[in-house]
Amino acid sequence: MVDTLVIGGGIAGLSLAARCVKHGSVVVLEAESAFGYHSSGRSVAHAHFGLGDDVIRALTALSMERLAEVPEDGSPPAGVVHPSLHIASADDLDALDELEAQHRRFATNFYRIGGIEAQDMVPVLTDWSVNEAVLDYAALKLDADVMLQGHIRAVRSGGGQMHCSSQVKAIVCSNGGWVVETTSESYRAARIVNAAGAWADVIADMAGVSQIKLEPRRRTVISFDGPSGQDISNWPFIKTVGEGFYMLPEGAGRLLASSMDATPCEPCDAAPEELDIATAAHRVEEGTTLEIRRIHHSWAGLRSFARDERPVVGFAPDAPGFFWFAGQGGFGLQTSPALADLGEHLLFGTPLPEEFAGFGLSPELLSPDRLRA
Ligand SMILES: Cc1cc2nc3c(=O)[nH]c(=O)nc-3n(C[C@H](O)[C@H](O)[C@H](O)COP(=O)(O)OP(=O)(O)OC[C@H]3O[C@@H](n4cnc5c(N)ncnc54)[C@H](O)[C@@H]3O)c2cc1C
Repeated sequence: MVDTLVIGGGIAGLSLAARCVKHGSVVVLEAESAFGYHSSGRSVAHAHFGLGDDVIRALTALSMERLAEVPEDGSPPAGVVHPSLHIASADDLDALDELEAQHRRFATNFYRIGGIEAQDMVPVLTDWSVNEAVLDYAALKLDADVMLQGHIRAVRSGGGQMHCSSQVKAIVCSNGGWVVETTSESYRAARIVNAAGAWADVIADMAGVSQIKLEPRRRTVISFDGPSGQDISNWPFIKTVGEGFYMLPEGAGRLLASSMDATPCEPCDAAPEELDIATAAHRVEEGTTLEIRRIHHSWAGLRSFARDERPVVGFAPDAPGFFWFAGQGGFGLQTSPALADLGEHLLFGTPLPEEFAGFGLSPELLSPDRLRA
């Protein structure tokens, strides 16, 4: 009998599994041949305060310091400082005021700057696209692979078992525990953690547990050349406060961008659609002086949301031993340390860091109970 069986080997499942190994035996089952194959490996991996509500920003603020920490074993940190520049046209200044107020609550090192100063940093921005901006110097560029590998090491060194190519096909509640079947193995577990990302409701169906009605939404990212002869490696992560785009440097001389599309779709191996690629390129050309001649590559991934767009963490009200760890939307990497704190607290009774209460965060705000009715 396994103490905790985690379904899903993305950032959610792995970060919580790394906590679970401190409290008993753990098995992680991942359907694909590699961990992080779906959303966690398709993120643009930037941690900032430009998305979500107060709960998401509080979870982000609670995570930032740990994401930037250099691990004791000398391995690279999950995140390195890389500023965020939130830009607003003259029509979007109210939204920028609101975002600045949010930064006052949650961020540690930010400034309101004028359009000219923003254009000094990123010369391709046009007068139209940036009237004013909020510059957050403490935002982080995350490394999803470093994060996943760190958790994998922690699970293994804690004695946990991890299996890729192990798709869960059936789940039965039996004798106060769970029997979980893959195509080749059967496991008995005292509790299951449902960290199956876009498939979390599929897992609930298998187990006969009420769905949380998660909505996966597709997002598309394109990669293209930056302006020739310019060093763009020090450009910030640039994001419009209203509808528009985000853009960030990628490796030598290239940029990544997205129109921040959020198209509802079924759980799947998401692929970019021509129209979404074209929209991303058009939005960048509209807001900058860049001309995108060639898209080097593009990809799409799913961001999955509960109806209030907050994560879902806690035992299912209708199924003892079935633990939800889902709905990480577009912020699953940047909130993962705080969400793992909460998961560990609810599963094993470890104390929550005091800062949770300081930000007005209580487990009820993320509980699956709130989604009943
Ligand atoms: C384009 C894009 C940009 C993003 N940018 C950011 C960003 O800048 N910052 C940020 O913090 N977040 C960002 N995100 C969001 C972030 O990537 C997600 O919130 C996070 O990866 C969700 O992690 P997860 O573990 O829940 O899901 P996943 O990584 O999808 O993991 C779930 C896993 O469950 C497995 N699974 C499903 N069904 C089964 C089954 N039956 N048996 C076994 N395994 C199963 C799947 O194969 C999958 O690997 C972005 C996402 C996208 C798509």
